[in-house]
Amino acid sequence: MKVEFLGGIRTVTGSATLLEKGSLRWLVDCGMFQGGKELEERNRNLQPYRAKDLSFILLTHAHIDHSGLIPKLVKEGFRGKVICTKATFDLCEVMLRDSGHIQEMETEWQNRKNKRSGRDETTPLYTVEDAERSLQYFQTVGYGEMLSLADGLKVRFQDAGHILGSAMIELWVEEGKGEKKLVFSGDLGSSDQPIVRDPFPMGDGDVLWLESTYGNRLHKSREETVQEFLKIVQEAIRQQAKVVIPAFAIERTQDIIYTIGQLIRKDLIPSLPVYIDSPLAISATEIFKRNPDCFDQETQALLLGGEDPLELPEIIYTQSTEESKAINEDLRPGIIISASGMCDAGRIQHHLKHHLWREASHIVFIGYQAEGTIGRRIVDGVKSVRLFGEEVAVRAHIHTLGGFSAHADQKGLLEWLSHLKNPQLEVFINHGEEKISMELSQIIRQQFHLNASVPQWREKRLLFAPEREVMPEEEATKVEPSEEKLSVLFQKLERNYKRLRRKLKRGKTMVKEYQDPRWLRQLEEVNKKLEELESELD
Ligand SMILES: [Zn+2]
Ligand SMILES: [Zn+2]
Repeated sequence: MKVEFLGGIRTVTGSATLLEKGSLRWLVDCGMFQGGKELEERNRNLQPYRAKDLSFILLTHAHIDHSGLIPKLVKEGFRGKVICTKATFDLCEVMLRDSGHIQEMETEWQNRKNKRSGRDETTPLYTVEDAERSLQYFQTVGYGEMLSLADGLKVRFQDAGHILGSAMIELWVEEGKGEKKLVFSGDLGSSDQPIVRDPFPMGDGDVLWLESTYGNRLHKSREETVQEFLKIVQEAIRQQAKVVIPAFAIERTQDIIYTIGQLIRKDLIPSLPVYIDSPLAISATEIFKRNPDCFDQETQALLLGGEDPLELPEIIYTQSTEESKAINEDLRPGIIISASGMCDAGRIQHHLKHHLWREASHIVFIGYQAEGTIGRRIVDGVKSVRLFGEEVAVRAHIHTLGGFSAHADQKGLLEWLSHLKNPQLEVFINHGEEKISMELSQIIRQQFHLNASVPQWREKRLLFAPEREVMPEEEATKVEPSEEKLSVLFQKLERNYKRLRRKLKRGKTMVKEYQDPRWLRQLEEVNKKLEELESELD
């Protein structure tokens, strides 16, 4: 059988694996690329996915970096089934709609800009309507249920413990006289996460796709993390300040509500206003409440004891933008949870604008901040960020609490891998930044003596092929010879250098006109960077 690595390769977003056996072609995940123009361009060209020829899509979970391109595939002619758990379907219903809405809004904004600069109008990747239309192709399956997809092809979903409804996928394929098993870890949760169960310990398999988001990092324990969070909230209360938490509407938000609830139940903090400033989060929390069968034992026990783990004495859900803006008129200490989790869009940007420059405010990052996002830059320690065309200084306390992560850390990933007993196991590392995936791959080779590798984006491989069987010439991956790569790189360098020169020229005239001291500082910085770069190239 053939495989093509279409996304989530050397990056955390755009998860998609294309599999092909005989006349059957199908995808595992179909996520949207996020984090920068170059990467997001890939969302526009889905030719390699060949929507019309796909028989089905197996979907690990509802996050947009796994599900976000489904409406676009349906728009392009996909008519098969999207198979996932019920909770994933419930979440996709709101998330894909929301994603369509974001696409529409962004296109509208872009087109206003395009009009002013005389450029052509663009169309959204997909609309709310496209998203709604795609929902009719979903088919749900329970955890642990065996489902036959075609002759000689079976699938089973197991709990990945990442978010509500998240799954890892077991896929059995008849190969020659025997049967082979492919395993997709999906996004793997960490074992001390509240609400959801621990990841299913997978015991066997022949080929594994393993995520690597935190493949080079160790999280602090949940307990330590909650202690740290407690201190932050206590300090904010003392200083009459706010704690701002960028979080995606799903899972992290409910996790934080649960944690705050525990702190209040244990009398460690007084009740305080907790704003959930995200219309999506309201629907998401309702979906959580509708799917208690996905909860872990501890959460089920709370429910049985008559406690609602997703309620707080002063929880305030804000729907409208007016309500959202009114939050900042409330001068009491409190907690604001808002999306997007990586600060690239959404209402969180308003709260950042309001709080980043205030020394008493606390910004708490609890989720992964991908390269190229505003959240990542704040975590990396920039002095200011640009929000709504304005430079905002970063003076607030910035915290990163890895222990709230919905992803296993390196230890968790390796522990989970250790259940798989096949010494012949082949491992493809995906869903991680390049450097991190490479690091994890090396550790797995050294510690487990397994054949682990990090594929290239759009690389094609034959699975289970006898040694002598080679992929037909035209289908083999086009590996760019290094010379070609080098020339592309030079072209890019040349382009960037030209652009920089143009900007500098413009800067020269501006300094003359306005004597702007900011320009001077920026120029000094550019100059310093160029000098550094030049010495690095030796
Ligand atoms: Zn995820
Ligand atoms: Zn993911």
